[in-house]
Amino acid sequence: MGRLVMKFGGTSVADIDRIRNVACHVKREVDAGHEVAVVVSAMSGKTNELVGWCAQAAPLHDTREYDAVVASGEQVTAGLLAITLQAMGIQARSWQGWQVPILTSNVHGSARILDIDGEELIARFKERNEVAVIAGFQGLNKETGRITTLGRGGSDTSAVAVAAAIRADRCDIYTDVDGVYTTDPRVVPKARRLDKVAFEEMLELASLGAKVLQVRSVELGMVHNVRVFVRSSFDRPEDIDPHGTPPGTLICSEEEIVEQQVVTGIAFSKDEAQISIRDVQDKPGVAAAIFGPLAEASINVDMIVQNVSADGAKTDLTFTVPAADYTRAKDTIAKAKGKIGYQRLDSATDVAKVSVIGIGMRSHAGVAAEAFRALAERNINIRAITTSEIKFSVLIDAAYTELAVRTLHTLYGLDKA
Ligand code: ADP
Ligand code: ASP
Ligand code: MG
Repeated sequence: MGRLVMKFGGTSVADIDRIRNVACHVKREVDAGHEVAVVVSAMSGKTNELVGWCAQAAPLHDTREYDAVVASGEQVTAGLLAITLQAMGIQARSWQGWQVPILTSNVHGSARILDIDGEELIARFKERNEVAVIAGFQGLNKETGRITTLGRGGSDTSAVAVAAAIRADRCDIYTDVDGVYTTDPRVVPKARRLDKVAFEEMLELASLGAKVLQVRSVELGMVHNVRVFVRSSFDRPEDIDPHGTPPGTLICSEEEIVEQQVVTGIAFSKDEAQISIRDVQDKPGVAAAIFGPLAEASINVDMIVQNVSADGAKTDLTFTVPAADYTRAKDTIAKAKGKIGYQRLDSATDVAKVSVIGIGMRSHAGVAAEAFRALAERNINIRAITTSEIKFSVLIDAAYTELAVRTLHTLYGLDKA
């Protein structure tokens, strides 16, 4: 007998039929003798609709009220799944974030989980054999007593945090693909499912655009050593062998991975914007004058490229910011123009970042150089490059994203046979 967290995302609970299918998966684990906590997302499309309604009501709105609205999607699915389980004869109870409670920071719209008290859930496993159905994505700020949400895709984080709090043996993330692939399988049909991915690699994949897991959930899994298993909710519950190993991907520590590839996967993101500041002084203090105000405005700067000037006087400086912060970033720079001292500001939003990730890069030289050659052969221009120990990223025209991803996928031998 074990203790499990089962998390189901939006498409897995899209309607009453899909919720019934989820209930069958839960029943399967309960029948196998496990103690189960389920974490659910809102029905597919629901959160987008709720976010849209807030924007319609007022483009600039109070984020506390935004949270009050968007947290409701998960409340509905938690209740519906509890009803469905009860109708199947399974003892079940729904839990909102504030009822557990899942305590978070006060940063509405992207709060961080601070603490979860799992003792009541554990007591109910023992005393009543009761399945806990927990609304993902939401929590409570203790000081203000208000509902918070964890940022888009946050139910993954709820699930891993609950798994740590109840000391679960495993956290199964059920979604609409049967694991983590070498790249998004909806973009590259030749993508291969990975049996195991190291936490560090998954962290990079997720933060560089592979939205199969929210970044924070991977961080929590790594810190609390939770075994996270990504699998499909579309497998028929009755076809699953309770003693077999289902198809899926285990996110685990590096030591557990026997066959280490140089490149594990490729991620991409079109949510990028590029800003170039022309003819800035090449002298001490200029970078601080540019990036200081951006940091104060809580704008995350990612890639930075600066040339050494030929004459020691003037140079260009290019950087990227999240597309959502593009206008704010341009305004911030324009306001600081007097202090920075530049001629012109150019910008582009039709750019994409393509990243190649693999722990094996630590011990292999020349991995990035191969990519630059392959992209050049396809006539894909690289606007900016960044590298770190286990990944490198290139900024390119968005129109070439799919071509670049497929080219690199083939180059590094990731295509399935
Ligand atoms: P859920 O609603 O279950 O949380 P998401 O839509 O958030 O599901 O995440 C699953 C999606 O992530 C898949 O449908 C797939 O298109 C996308 N995805 C992106 N990169 C990858 C990858 N490397 N492996 C698997 N899926 C990926
Ligand atoms: N429903 C939320 C979202 O769409 C959280 C989640 O699905 O993980 O972002
Ligand atoms: Mg998700």
